[in-house]
Amino acid sequence: MEGIDQDHQKNDQIGGRFFRGKRSAFAGLFFYKPGMVSIYDMDEVEELRRRNAVQPHRIKLFRTALFKNALGWDEVLETLPENARHDFSVTLEFESLELAGRHDSEIDGASKLVFKTTDGHLIESVVLRPATGRTSLCISSQVGCACSCGFCATGQMGFTRSLTRDEILDQVTQASRIVKPEGRTIRNVVFMGMGEPLLNLENLFQSLEFLRAAPFFNYAGSRLMVSTVGIPQAMERFSERFPDVQLALSLHSARQEVREKLMPQARKYTLDMLHESLLEASRNGKVMIEYLMLAGVNDGDADFRALENYLRDIPVHINIIPFNEYAGCNLRGTPKSERKAFADRLKTAGFDVTLRYSLGADIAAACGQLVQHRKMR
Ligand code: SAH
Repeated sequence: MEGIDQDHQKNDQIGGRFFRGKRSAFAGLFFYKPGMVSIYDMDEVEELRRRNAVQPHRIKLFRTALFKNALGWDEVLETLPENARHDFSVTLEFESLELAGRHDSEIDGASKLVFKTTDGHLIESVVLRPATGRTSLCISSQVGCACSCGFCATGQMGFTRSLTRDEILDQVTQASRIVKPEGRTIRNVVFMGMGEPLLNLENLFQSLEFLRAAPFFNYAGSRLMVSTVGIPQAMERFSERFPDVQLALSLHSARQEVREKLMPQARKYTLDMLHESLLEASRNGKVMIEYLMLAGVNDGDADFRALENYLRDIPVHINIIPFNEYAGCNLRGTPKSERKAFADRLKTAGFDVTLRYSLGADIAAACGQLVQHRKMR
């Protein structure tokens, strides 16, 4: 994952689901399987509330303890009246994912969290503690990825399945609990882990609703970022529904033939198509452009000119990213001095540019290094 170099409500869906509560409490008795109901399933939590005659304000405290204050399960249950605690504890499943491993970097503040899904897949999230002190979390949206970008380790492992809304959200809930004893809170959440979020649109949208909603995680849209290989239609739907959430495009080249070689999706979704989507998205504010620099591939003079020309009329913030190597990939990153020169040239041309550095490289937690090492049962 990345850090920064020195130089430089729509709440209808959740509301609707949450307060519906039309099923009878009696029916609930037959539906509930102990420990099988997710804490994110608001219809079911509402059912539980009614069944136990819990006052709505106590549920509010329960949710605050769970999502905002990142407390442990026992403390969360203590926010409920005593007579309701047992039913809540046996009915609700506190965690959708199981923490299967944790690796802390010895060179920077990154921690890789390895989670196991109930069907035995491993996914990864990365906690980033850059020197600026702001803690970010990079989360996964899929097990593997179907995009097969040539520079990305996740892309080489193929696609297994999309993550559910609960699996996406649980990465945030659990990471918040993990950093809490350090006196930290997760300040930003970025969809830059495994997978292509815009190919898991419905679950992405539902998780963003939860992440933004005041009764839940209460993140301002500006603290959330979704990064995509560039899928025009989905980008447009995203911008329409979440105008306040940050969008990042992994551009990596403004030359169609070069981009196609790096990113197979580029054949279908051309630079021309993406230009339109970028213009559309930038009406909501600056779009982030990710530009990974690969030696002899996209770092030459022609690449610079194509990039300058392509982005000239769009309000963007360009991030120049170093390449994170991984076993089996023979691409090489552009040296830092050249990356800096490229970034300076973009600045001179009038662009907002940030030269990024990598965090978590020693624990294979940097961008593009997340892979499923083995399947566990
Ligand atoms: N699928 C989404 C999000 C996941 S990748 C996307 O493509 O944007 C998050 C970022 O890491 C992307 O900008 C991606 O291009 C970049 N990335 C992938 N592999 C990398 C590598 N080996 N080194 C550096 N960045 C990489």
